[in-house]
Amino acid sequence: MTTEQPPPRQRPPRFRPSTLHQEPEAVTWARERVGFTKRALAAAVGISEQLMGEIESGWRSATPANLRKIASALNCPVAVLERKRHYASDDNTTRPNHHLRESSDLMSTTTQPAQLTWGRLPVPYAAAWTGEEPDISRLIARPFGAGLAYSDERPEDRDEHGVLWARIPTRPGSGRPVFEAMHSVRQREALLHRLCQVCGKPAERNEQGWLFLSQYTHLTRAMGDSADQGFTSKPPICPPCARLAVELCPHLTDPVCVRSANPRVWGVSGGFYVPNHDAKAIPYPADENLPYRHRPDLEKWFLASQLIVHLTKCTPANL
Ligand SMILES: [Zn+2]
Repeated sequence: MTTEQPPPRQRPPRFRPSTLHQEPEAVTWARERVGFTKRALAAAVGISEQLMGEIESGWRSATPANLRKIASALNCPVAVLERKRHYASDDNTTRPNHHLRESSDLMSTTTQPAQLTWGRLPVPYAAAWTGEEPDISRLIARPFGAGLAYSDERPEDRDEHGVLWARIPTRPGSGRPVFEAMHSVRQREALLHRLCQVCGKPAERNEQGWLFLSQYTHLTRAMGDSADQGFTSKPPICPPCARLAVELCPHLTDPVCVRSANPRVWGVSGGFYVPNHDAKAIPYPADENLPYRHRPDLEKWFLASQLIVHLTKCTPANL
């Protein structure tokens, strides 16, 4: 403890680098995971203990070469230690994405789901139930840095971009509903097929597009004075269901309603996993958002649990 390097808090913050190659918390987490002290890791990498402390506290940027050495010493993919960009909150540049597939292609068999209820409350179609626990018991880290897989992997475990998804059983009505969480299969299906997240029927569309309802903080920057776009993981909603949700849903504080004429698949949210010594994959303890087709080296260590769409051509909507 006595050898900790406290950041020079008395000094002006101009010494802290504005860009970092590493994600400081990720380095600390990966180091502690294998039981190294900072001194031991510094020695293994060939840098001073002080520099290692500054890398972990974010006061110095690790050089790409040092970050590779750290990853090698900790036996973890360098992608896990790299700075994650928070795309959905501070990056409005164009990212690779593609338009949602036309619902007509995918809506061939419209099996109208029955609305489930819990007591007097209607349970949203996309809501998760406690009987639908994810099963990652067969998640493994493939050898030679090849990324995550299931030991008995099936084609449906990956999406069309090759990203691996958490396995979740589909048993709506089992256990009790978790109103604030979405079931990843129904969430993705509703976003891709443009189904109402509450009633599960095709979401209504007008000349301004589909209706999306979200908390303001989730629909990042969607409704600033000039911005006409935002990101959301919430599927569209039909106006009667939106009114019901605003009235009944205690989790929906500060609701924002927009129409988007052009919702595009952007990427996934979920988490990174890193290989353990026995080829098991263990989670990096933070949720992340990852754009599709942007960083294959990150994608292969990512387990997706929700789809994220980029809402463009947005117009404020009233209920
Ligand atoms: Zn509806």
